[in-house]
Amino acid sequence: MADVILDIQNAVKRFGGLTAVNRVSTAIRRGEIRALIGPNGSGKTTLLNVISGIYAPEEGAILFEGAPIQGLFPYGVAWRGISRTFQNIRLFGNLSVIKNVMIGAHIQGKAGILQAILFPKHTREEEQKLRNKAESCLGFVGLEIDTAVKAASLSYGQRRLLEVARALASDPRLILLDETAAGLNPQEKRHLIDIIRKIRDKGITVLFVEHDMGVVMSVSDRITVLNFGSKIAEGTPDEIKTNQLVLEAYLGKENYAEVE
Ligand code: ADP
Ligand code: MG
Repeated sequence: MADVILDIQNAVKRFGGLTAVNRVSTAIRRGEIRALIGPNGSGKTTLLNVISGIYAPEEGAILFEGAPIQGLFPYGVAWRGISRTFQNIRLFGNLSVIKNVMIGAHIQGKAGILQAILFPKHTREEEQKLRNKAESCLGFVGLEIDTAVKAASLSYGQRRLLEVARALASDPRLILLDETAAGLNPQEKRHLIDIIRKIRDKGITVLFVEHDMGVVMSVSDRITVLNFGSKIAEGTPDEIKTNQLVLEAYLGKENYAEVE
């Protein structure tokens, strides 16, 4: 049997009367690249939010490596080995590039606040480790820039890569990417595809939300399709391309031509 890393079972998340995620189930295998697609408002980000602990699902279960994680706080989910990026980039604009990534690495660091007060020497060593880790993650995503500059000074594409580097810095076993290709130019998109593959080759499972069908079709092992909060299809890129329900969901939408 294939090793399932993330098992989502009948997850439900409602906002008032709206069911944003409606009994969604899917099993993601360790080592796969899984795309999550669907029209705007179909519940993709909400599902990532439920996985990463921003929301607890009202119903259903989410098992990570066999253990339930639904209802854990985001820090708890991250500590278990899941990290993510955000659709709306969340960086500390006034902090340097390296500090932004060190924040991601920090979850792996042993130094807590108490240690920082009691054993300042120890935490300096710890900080150096975090810095080294952050530098290696920035190199991994190909961000070769002055890491002392403020994150706010970076281009849009560089900020997206910075977020990916930060997500990698905690050594996750599963990474969730929310529309990382949005706003990137074609060359940056090709670079992102390479990075997604490199992340998988490192042994990290990838679940990514994406609108660009070129990116989705070229990099995914399997694709899960949401529409109005419900899963309407799941399969390989070839299966999804010809799926009637998927074509109908996109009918009249901007992405229809790309799905064809
Ligand atoms: P997608 O990422 O697929 O575009 P979302 O998951 O962001 O879709 O949204 C799914 C639905 O849930 C939408 O109708 C959206 O308006 C609603 N929604 C998302 N987040 C919230 C929230 N925090 N409060 C209320 N409604 C929300
Ligand atoms: Mg979204």
